[in-house]
Amino acid sequence: MHSDLIGKIEKAKRYAQEPERVALDTLTAHFRGGSSDHVITLHEDHWACDCNFFKTWHTCSHVMAVQRMLAPMLSVQAKKPAGPDYVSEELLQAAG
Ligand SMILES: [Zn+2]
Repeated sequence: MHSDLIGKIEKAKRYAQEPERVALDTLTAHFRGGSSDHVITLHEDHWACDCNFFKTWHTCSHVMAVQRMLAPMLSVQAKKPAGPDYVSEELLQAAG
């Protein structure tokens, strides 16, 4: 019995090193921003944030940060840069 559980714990440790095994579909997160907190959501590959910047640009530092943090667990679509067309992968890379 005990060895069964220990085996699962060991497996969990290995899995935890492989985040790409997990695919996030839906997410709600509270983000502690520099000046205030924000709520970020991911639903059907579309991101949203309740900050003012997002309302205009359809992306923001909060969404971009979470995209980076969770990249291995996101679909190809959810990983794509959000916002206007000129917000490209190249732009994000160039910005560091
Ligand atoms: Zn935001």
